[in-house]
Amino acid sequence: MIQLKNVSKTYRQAGMVQPVLTNINLTIEPGEFVAIVGPSGNGKSTLLNLLTGIDSPTQGEIVVNRSPLHLMTHEQLAVWRCSNVGIVFQFFQLLPALNLLQNVILPMDFLKALSVEQRRKRAMQLLAQMGIAEVAHRLPSQVSGGQQQRAAIARALANDPPLLVADEPTGNLDTTTANNVFELFRHLHHEFDKTLIMVTHNPSLAQSASRVIEIQKGQIFYDRLRSFA
Ligand code: ADP
Ligand code: MG
Repeated sequence: MIQLKNVSKTYRQAGMVQPVLTNINLTIEPGEFVAIVGPSGNGKSTLLNLLTGIDSPTQGEIVVNRSPLHLMTHEQLAVWRCSNVGIVFQFFQLLPALNLLQNVILPMDFLKALSVEQRRKRAMQLLAQMGIAEVAHRLPSQVSGGQQQRAAIARALANDPPLLVADEPTGNLDTTTANNVFELFRHLHHEFDKTLIMVTHNPSLAQSASRVIEIQKGQIFYDRLRSFA
């Protein structure tokens, strides 16, 4: 599903070159559930941004779902992202002027694979699967954080991407809500066979992933498959 070959990322600020990721080599198979852990500011979000084509590597090759992201233009990446990857953020990032239903419909409007009526129907189904059908017509500001994150997950699933990427998706939720949202991700991974990559600060959540990768100082510090024996 994902291959990184000698990937490095540096940022240039005020003439200074700051290395953020150094020589990362990584293969993730379809269907894996990978937790990415590590201290703040060590490159976890940057790694996710490279995997999703939001950002480009300074060096190296990134192939995701058979597409060579390092060779693609900004425009090609935007189109690619739309059907290949669903992204969930810590602060939900729903559009505040659209209700939850409209937020979930939006990615389908970009892709135009379904009719307008089918898009609406699918969005309602996804919201129902996430357990928030009854608040579909409310604005993000009119629902709880947990409900916003469930809507954001529904939006990430809208175009049925094989890859789900989440950057501290439970980081802004209370413990109970965080556990519920995490269970939802686990369910999606099991039931729908999604490849799931999640950055989390919560060690007990990370331990229920099938693989844990720790990033320290822009490098893979450890990479461990969890045995379910
Ligand atoms: P993490 O997600 O592990 O907390 P990040 O990937 O967000 O870490 O950031 C890693 C480092 O890269 C930090 O030092 C951060 O300041 C720097 N950084 C991230 N994005 C940018 C950017 N757009 N421009 C300059 N520096 C950045
Ligand atoms: Mg981060």
